[in-house]
Amino acid sequence: MGKAILIIYTGGTIGMKQDPETGTLVPFNFRQIKDEVPELKKFKFRIDTISFNPLIDSSDIQPDFWVKLVLLIKENYDDYDGFVILHGTDTMSYTASALSFMLQNLSKPVILTGSQLPIGILRTDGRENLISAIEIAAENKNDTPMVQEVCVFFQNMLFRGNRTIKYNAENFNAFRSENFPPLAEAGITIRYNFTELSKRYSSDRLGIYTKLDTNVLVLKLFPGIQSQVLDGIFAIDGLKAVVLETFGTGNASTGEWFIKRIKEAVNKGIIILNVTQCPAGRVEMDLYDTGVQLKKAGVISGYDLTVEAAITKLMYLLGRYNSINEVKKMLDKPISGEFSLE
Ligand code: ASP
Repeated sequence: MGKAILIIYTGGTIGMKQDPETGTLVPFNFRQIKDEVPELKKFKFRIDTISFNPLIDSSDIQPDFWVKLVLLIKENYDDYDGFVILHGTDTMSYTASALSFMLQNLSKPVILTGSQLPIGILRTDGRENLISAIEIAAENKNDTPMVQEVCVFFQNMLFRGNRTIKYNAENFNAFRSENFPPLAEAGITIRYNFTELSKRYSSDRLGIYTKLDTNVLVLKLFPGIQSQVLDGIFAIDGLKAVVLETFGTGNASTGEWFIKRIKEAVNKGIIILNVTQCPAGRVEMDLYDTGVQLKKAGVISGYDLTVEAAITKLMYLLGRYNSINEVKKMLDKPISGEFSLE
């Protein structure tokens, strides 16, 4: 059987074109992608497409959409050499992070891409993104797929998906991976970071996890935050975990009122995971008293996790493990390359 790549079109800007009559952007029938991007006919392998119905603006994505994607990949896993998911850019990093946890022991590439301008517009970035993502998804080294994990490809760069953030709402280079090097860069040739890519290779069978627990939230600290805000949040019925976006290297107020509430929440069994508000860098709770106090209160370090990876990892762990201690233990280990210990 020859090589084959499956494109899964979920929605977002990439799959739109201008209605010649009204001038508005409308999704086009993705079965006709080869008419929109005739370059695809030049690939010497089969390219199949599946289109979501209805198409989803990525701001509307909910965890059941991730489950649908995971099941679709599982169903088609043996029939394809790689998967390219076309996705709106707004929540692409959340989806990439969620999939990296829900699809364990991947031995094939799952590449998410999209565009800032619709593919049916002359100056689109979608054409390049799509073509390069397909080429990467089909790349082999020593007869095995070069990429064996969930990635985001955007504007010449291939990133580990759970390390990305949408950084720019306007420019073509919309994504960044501040705490982890790119896995490939597409110039005249595509240069792969084989050292990092090969660390994720696995010979185990694909494992899928589709139970996600959404009793989680993100709390971004700011100077002036009121005690009632914390009281309100920690009183939420069923709340299991909070991603606490702290200052700098994981610091927060040492005010007695604040630490007291954090301690009470931890004692109630709520997991509090510390990530920094800075787009780059990591949490080190031993550096300043403002971090030490959090650690003493039972707050867990999120190291250099992105918020996107932190929240989706919590959903996945809480869905998979019943015991809070097990969840805490797994938070302290990178399970899909999502953070670095050093
Ligand atoms: N709102 C769109 C989405 O995320 C934007 C895009 O595709 O870039 O679905």
